[in-house]
Amino acid sequence: MRAKRSKKYRKLMHQYEMTFGFREPYQVLVDSNFLHAVDSFKMELLPALERTLQGKPKPLLTKCSLAAIMAAQPINPKTNQPYRPRHLPPPTELPLRHCSHNPESEPIDEVECLLSLLSPSAEVKKNKEHYILATADAPVKKTDKNDAQQRKRKRDEEREEERAIRRSQMLRLRARSIPGVPIIYVKRSVMVLEPLSTQSENVRDGAERAKFRYGLDADPSLEKPAEKEEPKKKRGPKVKGPNPLSVKKPKKKESGPGPAQLAKKVKQADKPNEDVSEKPEGEEGAAKPKRRRRHHKSAAPQDNDAAPSTEPGPEASAMEVDV
Ligand SMILES: [Zn+2]
Repeated sequence: MRAKRSKKYRKLMHQYEMTFGFREPYQVLVDSNFLHAVDSFKMELLPALERTLQGKPKPLLTKCSLAAIMAAQPINPKTNQPYRPRHLPPPTELPLRHCSHNPESEPIDEVECLLSLLSPSAEVKKNKEHYILATADAPVKKTDKNDAQQRKRKRDEEREEERAIRRSQMLRLRARSIPGVPIIYVKRSVMVLEPLSTQSENVRDGAERAKFRYGLDADPSLEKPAEKEEPKKKRGPKVKGPNPLSVKKPKKKESGPGPAQLAKKVKQADKPNEDVSEKPEGEEGAAKPKRRRRHHKSAAPQDNDAAPSTEPGPEASAMEVDV
């Protein structure tokens, strides 16, 4: 089961690398609920992330997530500061990701902060920095159901919890709408890497179609990218043989060795269009000098044909003398 899952995750991350340019170490934005879940299920942050991503992770905590964590903490009366929660790893393990959303650098809502980092531009949804989102449902407190006196308070707490859970689900939903955002979440003591979102699949499939067009390794199913690469390469030349494009290529090769031939061919091909425009330029002995000139220029980009009407003149005649 574990082996099967890690293989699946390796393939998933391979797709993120191929389609969206992800590279190790993977930058992982972890949110407050994720840290809470990791702690409550007694996972170790770095090893668990590494197993899930099948690669080296670089977890980051935004300032706004830190603010959300600390805001939920009781205040230590001695220091008048919130207690550092057990589920907050030291900065050596989880460095801060600085984010400034306003001139005062005041922390904003955690969900909005994360989404703004995942897709900085509001118009074009794009995960430019290749972040991975690590999140979880908001924690649910276990309350004593028999306590009649606290029933009302419980209802309030439950409402609050439901709201928090909806918010954590909304974060995942909105993250899925940004193409190329891998989402990790903790589901019942298991760290899960979500399959590609529809948005990500669309981009991947678009990229795949482009690969088809250019005749590079194309993998329609993408189920087994690694295994299928080899058969595809073998198949490549077979397909190329009867391909009409291959008829053209030999022509070019034939003309390759003989520059004069090439010049003639190019000349013939161009004749209908360019001769008309160039004829006034050299009226005497029109055809031959021009051919020479062309030949001379054929080494350079053809766009130059029109411009150097005066300069290459001597060269062209020199060529003529030579031959
Ligand atoms: Zn922020």
